[in-house]
Amino acid sequence: MRAMVFDGNSPVLQDMQVADPQPGAGQLLIDVHACGVCRTDLHVIDGELAHPKRPLIPGHEIVGTVAALGTNVTGFAIGDRVGVPWTGHTCGHCRYCRSGRENLCDAPAFTGYTLDGGYAERTVADSRYCFHLPARYSDVEAAPLLCAGLIGYRTLAMAGDAQRIGIYGFGAAAHIVAQVAHHQGRDVYAFTRPGATAPQQFARRLGARWAGGSDESPPDRLDAALIFAPAGSLVPAALRAVAKGGIVVCGGIHMTDIPSFPYALLWEERRIVSVANLTRADGQAFMTLAEDTPLQIKASAYPLADANRALNDLRNGALVGAAVLTMR
Ligand SMILES: [Zn+2]
Ligand SMILES: [Zn+2]
Repeated sequence: MRAMVFDGNSPVLQDMQVADPQPGAGQLLIDVHACGVCRTDLHVIDGELAHPKRPLIPGHEIVGTVAALGTNVTGFAIGDRVGVPWTGHTCGHCRYCRSGRENLCDAPAFTGYTLDGGYAERTVADSRYCFHLPARYSDVEAAPLLCAGLIGYRTLAMAGDAQRIGIYGFGAAAHIVAQVAHHQGRDVYAFTRPGATAPQQFARRLGARWAGGSDESPPDRLDAALIFAPAGSLVPAALRAVAKGGIVVCGGIHMTDIPSFPYALLWEERRIVSVANLTRADGQAFMTLAEDTPLQIKASAYPLADANRALNDLRNGALVGAAVLTMR
């Protein structure tokens, strides 16, 4: 099969023919139709995350159909449309798995990082971590749901019932979360790179009450700020923008160092938290929400062989919405 492969060193993926994977016990063999390109893929190939599988097929927003079943698979049949997310395995017996926090498992495996992912014509995945997908979305539209949507949803959930939600970095995750928050009757304030008017207009079209640069002050104090851009300098900026008792939620897996800031910014019970990975319960809850809520998914499709171009467009901030690789 054709695959775009990270050799462990060069950030340029190699277009290669590799052997088809074979489904082991509990696994699905999947004909991949589409795979989203996530900022985490950039962090992996740019060497910002430790100990990736080498060589590695990246990609953890996989949409395809089941081509074959390993032994002991339940809940899926050949031909089913299926989604594969970032969390690919958890141990099931550590203290986190036993307390409903499998996203923090001590011995996890992650799709497109420590397991081969979806930048390929076929992949295998543990069926227990795969999802059925809402029929209302095409393959290209469904791919960004599997990380941008899911992690975005968990990030928003960390904000509790906050009414005024600021979103820093208006890319793939933000454009989905903004719609969910708007649909829930919350007020969305979108922050982009200073001067980036296209994503600001995009945010307003999706219902944002206000959109501006990350160096600007919103017209109202925020109850929560969600940060999806990987810039640590946004943490004190977001703290400045939140009201007393407000929360700053960092939704990315990697961020540049956070500059020091005066304690007064944290005072009055402001909080800073991060979001790590997802649980299967998050996935089920979000897929149900996405089925019931017509989300407009803005995705640019690239042929699999153009994965490097898609990654560069993401790296350079040239995208509005998500990038998705297509295999057919
Ligand atoms: Zn565990
Ligand atoms: Zn991701």
